[in-house]
Amino acid sequence: MGEVITKLTAQHIFRAGYAAFAQGHRLPDYVRRAAWAILVCRTAVLGGHVQACPEGHIERVWYNSCRHRLCPQCRWLQIELEDDGIRIISARKATRRERAYYEA
Ligand SMILES: [Zn+2]
Repeated sequence: MGEVITKLTAQHIFRAGYAAFAQGHRLPDYVRRAAWAILVCRTAVLGGHVQACPEGHIERVWYNSCRHRLCPQCRWLQIELEDDGIRIISARKATRRERAYYEA
């Protein structure tokens, strides 16, 4: 059985159609780099770390973000995970048009 999708993301759309699209089109490097970033963002390809309960009850894998400026998963808040917590690199404020879209 395939992956159960609870929320459709740009990454799902790229996974479904980017390879076929890229074969049929000559794409500039910056487009291919952005597509690759969106495809691998928060997957095992970029590595990650395991967060685990010291008692061994819960374990969770956190995959690294691509941090590409066009990646919908990363563009709002860019953070770095460090041993003692999270460091915010930059937070972009949504434009009025983007806020209207997301609040609709
Ligand atoms: Zn990303």
